[in-house]
Amino acid sequence: MYTQLALYIDGQWLNGEGRKGEDVINPATGKTLAHLPHASKADLDAALAAAEKGFKLWRETSAYDRSKIMRKAADLLRERYDHIAKVQTQEQGKVYVESRAEVLTSADIIDWYAEEGRRTYGRIVPGRQKGVRQLVIQEPVGVVAAFTPWNFPTLTPVRKIAGALAAGCSIIIKASEETPGGAVELVKCFADAGLPAGVLNLVFGVPAEVSEHLIPKKSVKKVSFTGSVPVGKHLAQLAAKGMKKATMELGGHSPVVVFEDADPEKVADTIAAFKYRNSGQVCISPTRFYVHEKNYSKFVARFTEYARSIKLGDGLEKGNTMGPLANPRRLDAMESFVNDAKSRGGKVAMGGNRHGNQGFFYEPTVITDVPDDSKIMTEEPFGPVAPIVTFKTFDEVVERANSLQFGLAAYAFTTSEKTAAAIGDAIQSGMVGVNSVAVSTPETPFGGVKESGYGSEGGIEGLQAYTNVKFISQA
Ligand code: NAD
Repeated sequence: MYTQLALYIDGQWLNGEGRKGEDVINPATGKTLAHLPHASKADLDAALAAAEKGFKLWRETSAYDRSKIMRKAADLLRERYDHIAKVQTQEQGKVYVESRAEVLTSADIIDWYAEEGRRTYGRIVPGRQKGVRQLVIQEPVGVVAAFTPWNFPTLTPVRKIAGALAAGCSIIIKASEETPGGAVELVKCFADAGLPAGVLNLVFGVPAEVSEHLIPKKSVKKVSFTGSVPVGKHLAQLAAKGMKKATMELGGHSPVVVFEDADPEKVADTIAAFKYRNSGQVCISPTRFYVHEKNYSKFVARFTEYARSIKLGDGLEKGNTMGPLANPRRLDAMESFVNDAKSRGGKVAMGGNRHGNQGFFYEPTVITDVPDDSKIMTEEPFGPVAPIVTFKTFDEVVERANSLQFGLAAYAFTTSEKTAAAIGDAIQSGMVGVNSVAVSTPETPFGGVKESGYGSEGGIEGLQAYTNVKFISQA
């Protein structure tokens, strides 16, 4: 029911043959799902050679033909969604309906890039002298090395793969060792759609060993990483040593501002559902709730009611609405957030404990009256813990919302058009949802500011991230 795990290098699926590896665990049961092979140094070098060959071939392939193969891969992903969603739920823990949505959105992302790749236009700039033609063109950067985490096993790899392929690049992707099945299934779709060997290569290994081997290599021209801030800084340094382009999609700590004129109960319904999606293990998850003091008690009551209605359990079983955390590190982290909050006077309105005696389940948790300098208000929670505090004025809440080094996503709710415009402008963040949580779509840029990283995935910006601009002056 799970999947056959393997590396994919130069069009070949590779497994065994004395390779080291690790077990993949189902976070709902703690049981082993499969054994994952690690790439040896020789495998990584083979992937580099394949990607160099793949780049030469793929960049010569017309954008029209590239798009046809990509769209076929998207269709296959749609055809296979049920199986892939189940693979993801088993390895990552999110409930089936969320897994299904992730797979279908991944197909949409491929389609969007496939189309947009055909519109990688240049421009002609009038010359200062007669007979001079000035052309600005976009060229694919070359071989891409990409690294993705465990919270979205298909969607995060797809953003990097589809952007790179649409631009005419080849790619080596090291997907998460903890959730490899989604990436394996995705790569199968591209392979079965007729993508030439070498254009897309999938490896696994010890993350630091793989990135330190690949990034300094001359043929690697672009690095794309999604994950934590400390790892992002390390990989950005490795990329900078070779003056390589980099996209860093790092963590966040998204403020939610609920103004006095908003309907606290309506907002609580929307934002609580968004908060507990994927057990809060989402980089744009709402994580710090600032509610105007007049709305506070109504908001907390409704939010807690929602959290209480969540049915915790194995994501493959019908009726469960929240699965386990993806790994035991998150359980330890939740305990540490909650203990720190309690020790500083925070009140646990609900939850605050592990759940059950198997797997990595943690209760949906609501904490009130916690100080701004507590761990939960300053470090990315990446889990189902929601701290809710009060504020009085616009300026005060803006200062508190902007006080951290994170700047990925932010949300605000108001019925005043003036406040809506003012908060959209005032928040230091790569994405701001005003009366909306729809900050991530295939056609819009997705990325952070400050220590949340740089560069965008999604939108035309996500495509341009895989191109170099060239100016040709022709007399
Ligand atoms: P971590 O910081 O060790 O790892 C984060 C990701 O980076 C993992 O997928 C890991 O495999 C990868 N990684 C680690 N070291 C690497 C290296 N040297 N080279 C290449 N890849 C490397 O910790 P973790 O326990 O997996 O996650 C902890 C925190 O990471 C979370 O609390 C969250 O803040 C952040 N995170 C963010 C995202 C995101 O979508 N931005 C996703 C997952 C985790």
